[in-house]
Amino acid sequence: MASIELDRITKRFKDTVVLDDVSLSVEDGETLALFGPSGAGKTILLRLLAGVIEPDAGRVLIGGHDMADVAPEHRRIGMAFQNFALFPHMSAFENIASPLKARRTAGAALSEGVDKIARLLKIDHVLTHSPRALSNGQKQRTALARALAGEPDVLLLDDPLRNVDAKLRFEMRLELPQVLARQQATAIYVTQDYKEAMALGDRIAVLSGGRIVQVGKPEDIYLTPADVETAQLFGDPTINLLDVTPELDDRGPFVCLSDRRMPLDPGLRHAVGRKCRIGMRAEAIRFVGPDDPGAIAVTVEAETPLNEKAVTLTVTKRGREILVSRPSETQGPSDTATHIAIDTAHALLFDRDSGQR
Ligand code: ADP
Repeated sequence: MASIELDRITKRFKDTVVLDDVSLSVEDGETLALFGPSGAGKTILLRLLAGVIEPDAGRVLIGGHDMADVAPEHRRIGMAFQNFALFPHMSAFENIASPLKARRTAGAALSEGVDKIARLLKIDHVLTHSPRALSNGQKQRTALARALAGEPDVLLLDDPLRNVDAKLRFEMRLELPQVLARQQATAIYVTQDYKEAMALGDRIAVLSGGRIVQVGKPEDIYLTPADVETAQLFGDPTINLLDVTPELDDRGPFVCLSDRRMPLDPGLRHAVGRKCRIGMRAEAIRFVGPDDPGAIAVTVEAETPLNEKAVTLTVTKRGREILVSRPSETQGPSDTATHIAIDTAHALLFDRDSGQR
């Protein structure tokens, strides 16, 4: 086991800065989910840790040791990738055995080492198969087994569930935390899927445009995303955003939505008079009768199943679209002309220019 520390890392390709003064720590035994849109710099960050590329500035420390002069093969790192990257000419057994052989394990210790990890990942029945003869799910389990087999101090997992089907992704989301806990490795898990980040990360780091935007517990990122982009990426359906300018009266800060006074959290007083965007999750909006004190008349435009539990409805008010969720078992509005009420007490406010909260 070993801690990981990135200390003010900058990486450029020609004139393009792909990692910009990135500092990040992962504790011994912790799994950090690295979340961010495509092109954010997630893979580059893993490759820097693995030692296959070098930073232009800053330090990489593993277990407190500066890795500047440590070659990739001496960093005690296991890696798995979204495209599996198995050796095609080797069997599943030989693939998994390769990091053990690199550490000069042989004979009974080698087959015991492979069997142990293969059983843990439920691929002990396909060890003689070549990668060609494995399903995508088995390929991905073999790749994970190979990453884990050498009992590395650090595991770098680059979106390993991206190319497997939804059922297996769901299973692995439940299984992987147990596998990682049993191996006691310190892990960085790259994903663009917020549910995966929430299920697998002890903490989540959000990377965007080469910068760390936020680091926190999964629920903190969901409830209080640091900026508009994170709020939009972190949730399904995406968050509702409406332009507002908060006002103040003797009852506290509020916004006017459709001519109604909607109270804001008193802590948002600093935003009064500023051009903002208010962010509301679909579940903070509900359908109400016309007599509800907060009722806003809307038109239902579309209804789409979100998952097995919820349905998302697109409603419009003066051409502006708002997404509303309702549990599948509840009855939706009977007419396209209906009313919603918005709970603005838990809404997020972002600065309209900077996108920051
Ligand atoms: P992510 O994994 O978050 O999708 P990457 O780390 O792969 O993103 O890439 C980050 C940025 O660095 C992207 O804009 C990508 O185009 C750029 N990049 C990656 N590798 C190279 C390279 N070898 N030369 C130039 N630019 C690169």
